[in-house]
Order: sequence, then structure tokens, then C-alpha cells
Amino acid sequence: MLSSPSSKKRVLSGARPTGKLHLGNYVGAVSNWVRMQDEYECFFFIADWHALTTDYADTSKVKENSFEVLLDLLAAGLDPERCTLFLQSHVPQHAELYLLFSMITPLGWLERVPTYKDQQENLKEKDLSTHGFLGYPVLQAADILMYKGDFVPVGEDQVPHVELTREIARRFNSLYGGIVANPFYEPGTPLGVVPSISTPVRGVFPEPKPLLTPAAKLPGTDGRKMSKSYGNTILLTDPESIVRQKLKTMVTDPARIRRSDPGNPDICPVSDLHKIFSSRETLARVDAGCRSAGIGCIECKSWVADAIVTILNPIQERRKKYEDNPRLAWDILEAGSAQARNVADATMSEVREAMGMSLQYEAPGCNPAAK
Ligand code: SF4
Repeated sequence: MLSSPSSKKRVLSGARPTGKLHLGNYVGAVSNWVRMQDEYECFFFIADWHALTTDYADTSKVKENSFEVLLDLLAAGLDPERCTLFLQSHVPQHAELYLLFSMITPLGWLERVPTYKDQQENLKEKDLSTHGFLGYPVLQAADILMYKGDFVPVGEDQVPHVELTREIARRFNSLYGGIVANPFYEPGTPLGVVPSISTPVRGVFPEPKPLLTPAAKLPGTDGRKMSKSYGNTILLTDPESIVRQKLKTMVTDPARIRRSDPGNPDICPVSDLHKIFSSRETLARVDAGCRSAGIGCIECKSWVADAIVTILNPIQERRKKYEDNPRLAWDILEAGSAQARNVADATMSEVREAMGMSLQYEAPGCNPAAK
């Protein structure tokens, strides 16, 4: 195990750079990251290589998108003094670990990952029958295990990925755990003999646990889950006028056709936004006013717009500082990437050592310790 300078548990998470972040990204992930900074030792990264698993044919936007995400993360409140923020491709050790893991990961494990088939279905316009797409959970495992994270903050749908990471860690430890100093491993066991699953081995990698983030359902303006691919987002960078305009067109309870028709907030996506962003008092006014037709939808939407704008204002102010001085943001990412490379270097030394593939020259058949 790496000796950590911090006694805090370590957390690792990444964001795929597919463009500017929206409120769904903020509520579902980034606001949790911001909160975690004091409780955990946090490593957060922009997963630009992961973007290639689906966008390999046109890479023209990957760098620009990575930078936009960086600005959004800093604007949302990630603080380089309290977390390590880095760019995946600037820590090339991830690629080496990915390659080594890919040698030990059975194909069946990858074909079973539920998001594999789902994504292929959802992104029919892209040819995703590639090695990189099938193998992206292995790259994720490399991302996580490189930092020996204790926890990975995920939503329910990502739990199978963390489970796969745990399986890969277990398999690595089981295959190579005996080569590192291992009090439980039978001395004299020939290298290459795989201990049985029940054999206690002290391996290189701890098994990270999923840290379930509160699953807030955040609808987009069309009532479906907010997602860039549906074109129904409110961006963290949207100015107030755009936020209000987008909300004005948001779908509501379809039974409420006229102002005098009572509505049902339980099935209205605007009400779901209120539940996340509005005060308890406002929520009570929405509930009563909607059911009695005491309020109109325009008024109701303006209240949720007020709440959202209040959240976005400080985010946009912080972003401005970095937009005016992009070098400042880039330097933060570079410093974080250098920090991450240090940790990754230490892990890779252990990994190579455990696999008997250290970079040190050793003459064949020559064991200096035996002389
Ligand atoms: S009043 Fe509000 S909660 Fe009720 S249907 Fe209209 S937008 Fe939805």
C-alpha cells in the first residue's frame, strides 16, 4: 500500500468531457464532489481518453471540451488546495495499467456489463464495435486502482463498473500477490502458480467500494432525464434570460390545459425541479396552488427559475475569473496532473515489481543476492 500523507479515505472520480456541464451533471455528481473535498482525500479527473471510446472518429472537440469541463469544475467549487484535479491523458501511466489489466480480464466480464449493450443501442449512429469501447470498464478500473481509492462516488447504474474494478483488483492480487512480500503465501511456491481464491494474499490493490450518491432525478426541459444527447439541458453557463426561457417551454402536467384546470405536481417535471432546488415553503405553495389551480404554470416556473438562478450566479461569477485568465485554470490542471503522475509512478513500480517486470536491468540467470 502507498503510504498516504493524509489519514483521510481516498476518493476517485472522473468526468467525460462531452461539452459544457449542465445542471444534471451538477446535481448528480459535481455538487457531491464539492462536498467531499473536506471529508476525503479526493482525486478528480477529466477523462479525455474515455471520450475517445465513443468519439474516436472526430477528435476535434476533445481538447476544447476538456477545457470547458475544467472551467465548469473550478466554477462549481472544486478547489485545487483541497483536491487533486488532473487530465487523464496527462498521466500516461493509466494506459500502461489499462494494458496490463486487459491481459487478465476475461472477455465475458466485459460483455456482461449492462451499459455495454445499452450504449450500443442508444448510440446506433456510431460504430461502437471496437476494442476500446468494449474495454472501457478496464480503463476505468485502471483509473480507479492507480490511486488505490477507498471509495468511488457513483449512481446506482454505475455500481456494476465498480464491481468489475473490484474483480480485476482481486484477480490481479490473486495472480501476482504472491510475488510481493506476502506473509501468507507459501514460500517456495513456484512463480506462476495461481493461489486458490480462498488463499489469503496481500496484493497490490485494495478493493474500492461504491459510494452511492443521492439519486436525485433531474428532468430536462422535455421531462426526460436531463442529458446532452436529448438536447434538453440547462447549462451551468446559461445566462439568466436563457434559463428563464428554457423553463418557460418546459413540459408540465399534460392534463393542465387551461389556467383553471387543477394540476397534479406528482407527475409534473417542473415540480421535480422544485423538489431539488426550492425551499420547503415554495414547495408547499406549489403543491397547494397546483392542485387548486390557485397558481398558473408560468408563475410556478418563474419560482423554480429564481431558485436555479440563485445557484448558478456564484458558479458563473467564479467561472468568469478563469475565463478571463484561462492560463490560471490550465496551470491548476497541470499541477494536479504532475501530482497524479507521482502517485501513478509509485503504483506502477509496485505493479511491475509484482508481475516480475521491473524496469531494472537484471542479467539473465544472475541473482546478485545469491553472490
Ligand atoms: S403549476 Fe407547476 S407543478 Fe403544477 S402543472 Fe403547472 S408547472 Fe407543474
